[in-house]
Amino acid sequence: MNNFNNLVDMDDYTVPQWNEIIALAEKIKAAPEDYADKCRGKIMATLFYEPSTRTQMSFQAAMIRLGGNIIGFDNPSNSSVAKGENLKDTIKIVSTYSDILVMRHTQEGSAKAAALVADCHVINAGDGGHLHPTQTLTDLLTLKLELGRLDNLTVCLCGDLKYGRTVHSLVKALSCYPNNRFVLVSTPDLALPSYIKDVIRAHGADFTEVNTLDEAIREPDMLYMTRIQRERFSSEADYERLKDVYCLTKAKMQYAKKDMIVMHPLPRVNEIEVAVDDDPRAAYFRQANNGMYVRMALILYTMTREPKIKPLLLGEIHPTVACTNPKCVTQTEKYLPHSFINRGDILVCEYCDERILL
Ligand code: ASP
Repeated sequence: MNNFNNLVDMDDYTVPQWNEIIALAEKIKAAPEDYADKCRGKIMATLFYEPSTRTQMSFQAAMIRLGGNIIGFDNPSNSSVAKGENLKDTIKIVSTYSDILVMRHTQEGSAKAAALVADCHVINAGDGGHLHPTQTLTDLLTLKLELGRLDNLTVCLCGDLKYGRTVHSLVKALSCYPNNRFVLVSTPDLALPSYIKDVIRAHGADFTEVNTLDEAIREPDMLYMTRIQRERFSSEADYERLKDVYCLTKAKMQYAKKDMIVMHPLPRVNEIEVAVDDDPRAAYFRQANNGMYVRMALILYTMTREPKIKPLLLGEIHPTVACTNPKCVTQTEKYLPHSFINRGDILVCEYCDERILL
């Protein structure tokens, strides 16, 4: 049982709760000084096992702007992780030093594993190529501010849809609002994982898959460009082959709607030509700035909301079945219970969503 307000996946909160957090972020953005003391005396730990600029610094800036303090590391080799400490022990201890713990980790399912043992609220700031819910809150706030709505949107997502955790969380979230449509632009190697496509289908939303940006550029209200996630490839040759496959250029922007916006979770590598930055439709720097306000709202919401006591693992424990995803947190954190949701002919790993055929 867990009685903290964790955000491991977007579905830890309901759609009305996401809307509440976004509305709070809008209020904070309009008058940040009104919130300057809201977290006075509170401590947030940021544990970043993987590189980050925006997520880490916007979380830290958010807590400081709320009057709170921060501890943590941005390089695990400066911590006892370098001495071989497991995730459980690090989280167990740091969570007793802090009121809220924000973690980014290389392994899929690591945020859930952390929440299982933490003695404070846990926020997932990215778990490998799996999920990135606080980027999604940033993206939802940006859509709300730029286009005025979260429904009735045609959203084109382009690039690395396979390993792009921001894409996974965003598609899951936007599928929950009415009449959203997705145009998925990727090579077959980088296509959206089938478990995310199943979420779209389950909400009755529509999606199409195409190979080129030219085929999709005229349609969307929002174009979400993504970086090819070099660090997730098992072969450098595959990355080299795919790294420059998509590039949004000024020339391509001529064919897009006049009121379309371009978003990108950043960092950009080569997938958006720098000349596009001067187009008023380029919303990605405004989006990054929104991240700080939405994280202020999320910290405040997490700290002030009465926690709902609930189990973190809902599935069946199968001690003899191992998750087949080599990037799943259960591969290295051997003490974790092997918990799966039973879907008849498949078991779904409760940490990383890998499907295992029975
Ligand atoms: N900053 C985003 C993430 O952490 C996107 C990226 O790295 O490409 O997932």
